Amino acid sequence: MTSRPQITLRYGAHAEKEYLQRLGGFLDGLLYSGNLLEATQAASVSLLLKVRKKQASPRLYINPMTYIFGPYIDPDSNRKRQDLKWIKSFRKKSQRLEIKDAYQALGAELGEPFKSAIQDSTAVDPVGDLSVDRDAIVEGTLRYQSNRLVDIFTADEEIRQLAGSSVEQLQPSAVFAPYFYCADEWMSAGISANADLARRAVNAAPKAPVHMIACVSQHVLQSRDLTKQLCQECSATGVKAVWLWLSKFDELEASTSQLRKYRALVAELSKSVSVHTYAGGFWSMLLAGDGMEGISHGVGYGERKPVVQVIGAAAPTVRYYFPPIAKRIGVPDIERAFPELGIETAGSFFEEVCECQICKGVIGKELLNFSKFGEMHRSEPNKRPVQTATAAKLCRFHFLVHRLLYEVKAVEACDGDSRADFLRRRAGEWPSQPTVSGEAAHIDRWIESLTGPALTIDQAFAE
Ligand SMILES: [Zn+2]
Repeated sequence: MTSRPQITLRYGAHAEKEYLQRLGGFLDGLLYSGNLLEATQAASVSLLLKVRKKQASPRLYINPMTYIFGPYIDPDSNRKRQDLKWIKSFRKKSQRLEIKDAYQALGAELGEPFKSAIQDSTAVDPVGDLSVDRDAIVEGTLRYQSNRLVDIFTADEEIRQLAGSSVEQLQPSAVFAPYFYCADEWMSAGISANADLARRAVNAAPKAPVHMIACVSQHVLQSRDLTKQLCQECSATGVKAVWLWLSKFDELEASTSQLRKYRALVAELSKSVSVHTYAGGFWSMLLAGDGMEGISHGVGYGERKPVVQVIGAAAPTVRYYFPPIAKRIGVPDIERAFPELGIETAGSFFEEVCECQICKGVIGKELLNFSKFGEMHRSEPNKRPVQTATAAKLCRFHFLVHRLLYEVKAVEACDGDSRADFLRRRAGEWPSQPTVSGEAAHIDRWIESLTGPALTIDQAFAE
């Protein structure tokens, strides 16, 4: 048996409150971002007090979001940007772009040099600017995570009166070292700078467990030297855990060779430090057999996460997470394959696809009810049909319940060698169905990547 993969939910917005309130007890961890905390201080603290009934569960992490004050590569121009444009929005009042309030507040709380960065609209760049006071960055970042929730709690009389609440519930389970994005253009120096910040954080916080977020372009996996550097420098920091955030790395799209390199990195890194992934899905969970301790994602998205988000993208349809291939696909495409695979009753669906409480509740005795997960409506006669809010919610709940109650156990029951077989068995005949095959190409790559023991980084690059 492998160890049980831990699931940490990245909580993105209060629109997701219901999921957290209902399923918080099943989560191992909750990652709460500093900008959301600053935008909704009282609401954040009272939510956390409700969700975190006992101090230990789920583990709480505050994401200090320091990278957002650093440089990045503008996807439009492909140039390094240092004017913080990615956290600005247009203000009617001043008729110009200004840093959003939540980030202004976060920067002010993190202290110098973040405060000045906001004032001057100039990124904090510990890689390119040697005059940056790294100890100040570390001090402010750690102080923020340790104290901020308690400070808000103490200052707000209404929250203080919440029955049974105590400040212990507001103590994070670990603190993150400050971290900045390592783009291709400054990857090696960036890895070193982040490792140095993490080392300083370990020295500055001898009592709290310190974690680090290794926030690098996924292209790190194209270079043996950089992958080894990442592994060695993170190992040497003294942190308790490293959260790998390979920007844009997508386990559904990655080639077998990329998957094997990633697996080698996890296996090697986990020899000296706990490894989590900041954005991962079912394949990353299966890496529990190679030392991956846990994965993190959002309520119904975020199993891959680019550092630079595309702004203004329309909210996508929340598709049904289809367990046989561990991917979200369209409900009609699944339904069309039912006859060929002999799924004629609700019972056979529960056996072959998903038996979670949500699916059982929605489908009941009638297989036709499965289409409720894909229900569409038109807001106006000539508009394109969009998913109903109910269908989106059902899809999210099914995904979370299935992940937290079923997938976690399934992975735990696999030993390292049986993972490929497990994937093969679970996929069954689905990938050969005409309406599913276009979505299932990753299954063969996953199986191949998990066949045999994990390679060393050197071996993975020699292949
Ligand atoms: Zn289900």
